[in-house]
Amino acid sequence: TAVRELLLSRIRDVADYPEPGVMFKDITPLLADPEAFTALTDALADIAVRSGATKIVGLEARGFILGAPVAVRAGLGFIPVRKAGKLPGATLSQAYDLEYGSAEIEVHAEDLNAGDRVLVIDDVLATGGTAEASVQLIRRAGAEVAGVAILMELGFLGGRQRLESALSGALLEAL
Ligand code: 5GP
Repeated sequence: TAVRELLLSRIRDVADYPEPGVMFKDITPLLADPEAFTALTDALADIAVRSGATKIVGLEARGFILGAPVAVRAGLGFIPVRKAGKLPGATLSQAYDLEYGSAEIEVHAEDLNAGDRVLVIDDVLATGGTAEASVQLIRRAGAEVAGVAILMELGFLGGRQRLESALSGALLEAL
């Protein structure tokens, strides 16, 4: 579609970042373009409404930038899922494996409850590990996962397959 073409045209490929051999997808040109950023927000807000979500979870850090305006546009609350050690209140944590080592994400326990239906928003799906961990975290908090919506997926890393099996039928939308 025209919107998808606009959005993809505003994502910059940066070679050898953050390390040699990696082609990083840089979304800052999209954020700096009000037409593109608005179109992305509108498209994600449509997904949020269609998914029946009652809350938006954004994954640190670019999921905050994309998720917050979507929450406002869709009339939903915004919940940050952060890297370990950043949230001041009582948290639930979820560890997951990286290529080398592991990582941990957290959410304020009181922000998610039974009866909540959550749409997770992030910019890029790579291996799917971060999004999968967020799905596990949300379910452990007692909430239901409406789905995961991302701007773009790096198909060659198999993130979709990994995430789809974790989602067990919940929505997975890439623009
Ligand atoms: P995964 O857990 O799927 O391997 O990695 C996804 C996470 O890393 C997301 O939070 C995403 O923001 C970040 N990420 C990985 N690769 C890229 C990339 O090429 N561009 C951007 N913008 N983020 C990336």
